[in-house]
Amino acid sequence: MQHHFCPKSFPSTPKDIISDESRRKQIVIVGAGASGLFAALSLKRMGVVNVTVLEASNDIGGRLKAVRPTSSDLTLDVGAEWIHSTDGSRVLNSMMEGLALDGDNDESNKVELITYQPKWYFGKRRSKLMTTIYKETKFKSATWYSWLKDNVYEKVKDNVELNSPVSEIRYNNKQEGGEKAVEVVLANGEIRTADVLICTVPLGILKQSIAKDRTSASASASLQFNPALPIKLQEAIHAIDMPPGLRVLFQMKEKFYPDLTSANSLFTLLCNPNEMTLAYDATLGKDREENILAVVAIGNEHAGKRFGGMSTCEVGKEALRIVDDLFDGQGTVNLIGEPLVQDWSEEPFIRGTYTFPGSNRHRRTLGQSIGESGQVIFAGEHTSMKYHSLVPGAAYEGRRAALDAVGMMAD
Ligand SMILES: Cc1cc2nc3c(=O)[nH]c(=O)nc-3n(C[C@H](O)[C@H](O)[C@H](O)COP(=O)(O)OP(=O)(O)OC[C@H]3O[C@@H](n4cnc5c(N)ncnc54)[C@H](O)[C@@H]3O)c2cc1C
Repeated sequence: MQHHFCPKSFPSTPKDIISDESRRKQIVIVGAGASGLFAALSLKRMGVVNVTVLEASNDIGGRLKAVRPTSSDLTLDVGAEWIHSTDGSRVLNSMMEGLALDGDNDESNKVELITYQPKWYFGKRRSKLMTTIYKETKFKSATWYSWLKDNVYEKVKDNVELNSPVSEIRYNNKQEGGEKAVEVVLANGEIRTADVLICTVPLGILKQSIAKDRTSASASASLQFNPALPIKLQEAIHAIDMPPGLRVLFQMKEKFYPDLTSANSLFTLLCNPNEMTLAYDATLGKDREENILAVVAIGNEHAGKRFGGMSTCEVGKEALRIVDDLFDGQGTVNLIGEPLVQDWSEEPFIRGTYTFPGSNRHRRTLGQSIGESGQVIFAGEHTSMKYHSLVPGAAYEGRRAALDAVGMMAD
């Protein structure tokens, strides 16, 4: 059975459609994750020249992040990892379709993928059902992060400014005497102006921006809107959930664990598929000698209550305890070195994992533009009606936002 958690087609971005007058307009994109970078590439393809991507952290990718868990060259994703399709190449090709720039090489998007059917366990019990129905695709030696970097970032890198957190977005400026509609204030006090702004910060950051009881720690990293966001949008930001979550990688002497073990029962997983704790073989199918066991906990007591407030070292120990509980103490016996912990709730410019389903009404509101002429456009996985929480959903929304921006500039 084929499945694809990916839009069938992506918004078309006709080459160089922009008029000479619109070409000079300034677009600022906030955030260099998948959505922001796809927006930038789409704008470039359509002929927009003045595009600046402001990224708060010191690297691109956002929730696409790769690490080296050992001293070897093995690189693994600690954010998005799976393509969630039985035909990953089709997904990657459709994400890039219609985005070629002059001089692009058609072969550049080719990357080796692994489509596999992991043997599922619930605790110690093998699940024939899940083993039969669950098929996955992931990168063989590349990662989601490196794929985004090679195929998208490389083409727009001159437009991207790292270490540039935006602290305030002032919209509804009067456009007298050629004044721009949006002012973007950076954390260092610098002010940039834009005719159109595309905001791709995660929902976790938007939640912080409207929180009444901001602690000094969250306030220092958060973003403000001036004037305040419309009430309807604030309600939608409150209503959609973006729960905590983390991934921990352990290097083990022996592979004592099956392909994939769920710490939750099948019943719990089926009732709430977005709340899970999984321990799985992170090097499965990668033809590597290293044994890397990953624990991912999202939206449940492992990710939130139990781990919340712990230091990175304590989180690593707690995750090892889960492994020991599942595999009779084998984790502690086999562990090499320290666990590698990626806690997404603690990332100052992310604050959570991905958005969970909510009402369509609220989801639709998250993707609506604001400002007198709609000059602030929102994008990011959280604005996707059908493919939220996924990399292709984030890419789609970036492309959609670019088209909206070009439409606005033509008005
Ligand atoms: C643990 C985990 C596992 C996942 N697994 C999968 C998977 O297997 N498959 C899948 O398809 N998806 C998966 N996802 C979801 C996927 O990673 C996201 O849907 C996607 O990467 C979101 O892209 P985005 O551009 O919308 O947001 P982001 O990637 O979060 O990008 C937003 C950017 O905005 C920046 N930013 C924030 N605030 C500011 C500011 N004030 N100024 C400037 N910049 C700012 C951030 O630093 C960030 O770079 C997973 C996510 C997590 C966390």
